[in-house]
Formats: sequence, structure tokens, C-alpha cells
Amino acid sequence: MDSADKRVNDDMAAYWMPFTPNKDFKANPRLLESADGIYYRTTDGRQVIDGSSGLWCCALGHNHPKVVEAIRKQAGELDYATAFQFGHPKAFELANMLRATMPGDLDHFFFTNSGSESVDTALKMALGYHRLRGEGQRTRFIGRFNGYHGVGFGGISVGGMVNNRKFFGAQLPGVDHLSFPYNADMRFSKGQPKDGADYANSLEEMIALHDASTIAAVIVEPVAGSAGVFIPPVGYLERLREITAKHGILLIFDEVITAFGRLGYATASERFGVVPDLITTAKALNNGSVPMGAVAVRKGIYDTYMDEMKAGIEFFHGYTYSAHPLAVAAAIATQKAYAEEGVYEHVRETEGYFADMVHGLSEAESVVDVRNLGFMSALTFAQIDGKVGSRSGKIFQRAFELGLKVRMSGDHIAIAPPLVTQKSDIDNIGEIMRKTISEIG
Ligand code: PLP
Repeated sequence: MDSADKRVNDDMAAYWMPFTPNKDFKANPRLLESADGIYYRTTDGRQVIDGSSGLWCCALGHNHPKVVEAIRKQAGELDYATAFQFGHPKAFELANMLRATMPGDLDHFFFTNSGSESVDTALKMALGYHRLRGEGQRTRFIGRFNGYHGVGFGGISVGGMVNNRKFFGAQLPGVDHLSFPYNADMRFSKGQPKDGADYANSLEEMIALHDASTIAAVIVEPVAGSAGVFIPPVGYLERLREITAKHGILLIFDEVITAFGRLGYATASERFGVVPDLITTAKALNNGSVPMGAVAVRKGIYDTYMDEMKAGIEFFHGYTYSAHPLAVAAAIATQKAYAEEGVYEHVRETEGYFADMVHGLSEAESVVDVRNLGFMSALTFAQIDGKVGSRSGKIFQRAFELGLKVRMSGDHIAIAPPLVTQKSDIDNIGEIMRKTISEIG
């Protein structure tokens, strides 16, 4: 490291960055200064395509005028209102708007500030629901290998990504994990792999082992995002729904990434035609503009709390910033924009073109798998010298230098641009990726 780098490093030392190799970053920073539409601008004045929608959240692109205006106006009108024992009208308006977007009778909403909080909220809701129905012995949760459900203790317990768990002790007791529904035969599937629904049968085995009467809920991402974009085989989610319903176990879809258009519909649930009992959301709920999450809950769960808790607070849970006025105003503007601008329809119309672009990259020898659905995709790269992330790390860095920000997860590179991305932008993404892959080799 030369002296200039050392100085940069010193200036940057105070900020302990999340999910980042701090030392590497501070020696070679990637600093984003402003954004507009599908582009970021770096501190050294370069324009970079946001090929990961921020972190899966900026569905409308950046600084959408309607969202910016809503936040600006709200900040001057009502900056903060506690959600405990008080409310503000827009929170109710937003809940009513969201009701129209959710499948089945998921028509009640609890507001949080992040995906992690949505997950922990949903897990607690499930426990309380069973207890109120006289089945308080249902305390087990079943997650899945490679699942990502945020970083709260509940989320890492049901999650299945080793590095997110191994440093942090024993976590929640009574959690088991389904096997991951993917194998080498599914490589290069366009959309959903045709075979593999049988992976859901491992849930039957788990129920036989623990007994259904001890299990509160199963939680899965309908499409596994952070693990590297893995699409559920045809029939898999349907089978999970059948089995959980048969045994009185709640099914939670963690749609923090997939909710609000990523797959061309308001939810993955709608796309796959499978209705869970709870849906966790965040990210694109308000275009990632102000931290916010929401848990959508079936009527029967909400009614159980309302009926069984005869007086006083029905659910002892909430956050200082639940339904924060700025986040809510941004969410209302975002949700309106999705409808007014035909954003989900655009994804449905364009996803085939996007799929052709990403699968076209598979010609390179170093690309050992490609997966896609909606505006979600990932390439898997062969390792160099057997080291995880060795080639994908180079791809990630070089693509950024060439003007494209992608997301790296292990050996996978996810490409998931804003939902307003046009065909010509997809061409540009493809071109940068091709150049990157050929340079790295
Ligand atoms: N659940 C899923 C499926 C996610 O993809 C994420 C974040 O990527 C989370 C939960 C956690 O969300 P947050 O980082 O907002 O806490």
C-alpha cells in the first residue's frame, strides 16, 4: 500500500462497514456519490449502471421524482409520529393500498424498518398465533439450507448461510433446515427447473421426526436471492404449501427481494400461484428510499389476535420507527408509480429479452451455470485454484471499472437491474459483462 492509499485508509477507518471486507475496501474504495435513473455516479465522476438495483431495492431506478417529492413534502409536514398508541393517516392509507396487491386474504400489515425486522416479526407472530389457539407447544421453525432471512437472531437461526451463523453461538433452539432444492442437472435452466419438486418431500421427513404438533412455521424465500438466485423447481412451492396446510403449520414466504415487481408481479406468491400465511417484505416496498419493511398477514392470524386478546395490546411487538412518516410517504408514492407506470407489466414483457442476454453469457467457458426469472438472474463462475469467489471477485471488480455494478455472492454474480430498465440498457449490461468475462478469462 503506498502512502496515498494509507491516507485514504486512515480517513475511512472510523466507519465499520457491513458485509464488506473493510481492509480491502479501504485500500481500494468504490465510492458512489449520486444517482439518477438506472445510473450511479462515482466520486471520480464515472457513470455506472446499477445492475443490482442498489441492493435489490431501487425498482423504479434512483431519485424517482414522485418518490423524492413525497419524501420532501412529508419532511416538512410531519417528520415523526410514534406508532405506539398513536397513528398518522398515511399509515392506514398505505396498509389499504397494499391490501390490493397481496394474494388471497393476506390483508393486514405490520410495519417494520428492514427485511430482518420483518422476518423476526413474522416468526414472533407465528409463535403468538399458535399460543393463542391453545397450541403453545408449536415452537419449532423450519428454514432451509442457503436461506437468507436477514441478520437478527431469528433470521440467522432459520437462515442457512454458514458464515452468517457460525460466529454467533447456538441461536434459537428448535430450528431445523430443509435441503436446498437444486442440483447440477438444473444448471442453465431458463426460468424454473422442470424437475425437483420432490425436494419438498424432505419436509414430510422432518415432520415425521419432530411431530407436526411441535412445529410453528416453515420459512423459505420463494426464489433464493442472496445465496445466488436459485429458482424453485416447478411444483416445489406448491408441495410445501400442501404439506404445511395438511399439518397446521404456517408457511412464511420471505419476499424481501421478490415482492413488488422483481418477478413481474406484486409478489412471487402471485407469480407462482401459491398463497402462504405470511409474507415478509422490505426493499422495493418504497424503492429503498427510506428504511422500511412490512409483514403481510392472513386474516385468520390477525383475527386470532383480535379475538383471543380480549383487552389491551394484542401483539407485544413494534419498533420506534414502525410506519415512519417519511418511509410511508415514500411507499405510497412508490406503489402509485408501479401502477401508473406499468412497471410490473414492463418486467413481464421484457424478461424474455433479459433472459436471452444473461443466458447468452454462458458461451464463456468460465461460466458454469446461469439462472433467471423476471428481472433476477445470476451467473456462477468456475473457481481459480479452488478458492471460493476467486474468479467472481475479479468479475465484480472489473465490471465496476467498466461501468456496471453487479452483486457478488460466493462464486455467483447476480444481475438484477431496476425494473424500469429498457432493452437498450439490457444490451449495454450484456456488452459490459461480455467484455469483463473475456478480459478476466
Ligand atoms: N430476507 C431476505 C430474503 C433478504 O434478501 C434480505 C436482504 O437481502 C433480508 C431478509 C434482510 O433484509 P435487511 O437487510 O433489510 O434487514
